[in-house]
Amino acid sequence: MRALAVFREQQDVRVIDVAEPPAPTGRQALLRVLEVGICGTDREIAAFEYGDPPTGSDYLILGHEAVAEVLETGPDVTELRVGDLVVPTVRRPCPDSGCRTCRIGRQDFCTTGAFTERGIKHAHGYLTELVVEDEQNLVAVPPQLTDVATLIEPLSIAAKAAEQAQAIQQRLPWQPDKARTLVLGAGPIGMLGAIAMTVTRFDTVVYSREPADSPRADKVRELGAVYVSTEQTPIEKINSVIGAIDVIYEAVGVPTVAFTATQALAPNGLLILTGIPALNEPATLPIDRIMKDIVLNNQAIVGTVNAGRSAFELAVQKLEQAMYLIPHSVRSIITNRVPLDAGPEVLKQPHGVKDVLRING
Ligand SMILES: [Zn+2]
Ligand SMILES: [Zn+2]
Repeated sequence: MRALAVFREQQDVRVIDVAEPPAPTGRQALLRVLEVGICGTDREIAAFEYGDPPTGSDYLILGHEAVAEVLETGPDVTELRVGDLVVPTVRRPCPDSGCRTCRIGRQDFCTTGAFTERGIKHAHGYLTELVVEDEQNLVAVPPQLTDVATLIEPLSIAAKAAEQAQAIQQRLPWQPDKARTLVLGAGPIGMLGAIAMTVTRFDTVVYSREPADSPRADKVRELGAVYVSTEQTPIEKINSVIGAIDVIYEAVGVPTVAFTATQALAPNGLLILTGIPALNEPATLPIDRIMKDIVLNNQAIVGTVNAGRSAFELAVQKLEQAMYLIPHSVRSIITNRVPLDAGPEVLKQPHGVKDVLRING
């Protein structure tokens, strides 16, 4: 069967032939991969910036934003049936018996860093025809979400952020009934974050560099969110344009933007960081004023990476809601669908918001 592999040593990305997986045992399921979404992580791995093959392999099979169909189940599978649609989680636990988070299945909070990630770190991904996966790593998806289910993995980032925001804001002595949210960045993570927020009926502003009359800005407005372009409003002026914000969801990976945006944060507000910045020369920021405001306003800053099973389940719910309320907007996130053979080309050159590779079906 075919697979899209990255050979980091040889600096090559190509479709190769690999052996089919063995029949599933125990709690495993054999899956037929339908589609896999491509993101910045895949592009960085395909540019040989990082990404580690499994031990003993000279290549890494790419792909972590997958949707698949159950073909066969092992004898101890209890939750899944043949024909079910599933989305796999990405991170697998580290082997350290002292890592409490991994031992309770919350490897998204792993404390040792020795976790593996399918398609990223020491484990093959899903850009292949058949895979075997344990059912505890598979989240069932209703069949009506088939054509948008590759969005569940990137949406799980926003879902984990929502879980974290809810947990952190338990600190408040009362629970506000409405929130104003600001999304920094209109890439796939930002757009999906904005979808999750607007279907939760939060007033949402998206701030990004595309012009206010661009197709991307139109997509934001179709969600029912407000779009503000960096072209008209520099980040230093953002609070005078949009007013006080309860939660900022950062999806742009630019520290000066993220931390300057805190001046729009309302008292008791929360800044959630999801972007991983390039390590550039030190930047200048009024860090004294930023710190003073955070302290005097009881504000919190949190980083969040990857997602646990509960966040994937929440992402399925949010996607169902979004497909009920704004199906056109959700579908428009996927701007390009191509066969596996086109993978190496698509990895070099993004087409619109989200590229998806079709494997089977
Ligand atoms: Zn991704
Ligand atoms: Zn761990």
